[in-house]
Amino acid sequence: MKHLEICPNCHSKLKLHSDGETQYCSTCEYWTKIGTVRLDSIMIYE
Ligand SMILES: [Zn+2]
Repeated sequence: MKHLEICPNCHSKLKLHSDGETQYCSTCEYWTKIGTVRLDSIMIYE
């Protein structure tokens, strides 16, 4: 499964939601479902 380690929006560390399927950012409230993240969006921000 693909997942992000940092928020693509503000670069804070993402946290894993207790449901085990969602990652969220406590800084900007960005969230994403694990497995739906496109890796090319990471490259753009790095
Ligand atoms: Zn964020």
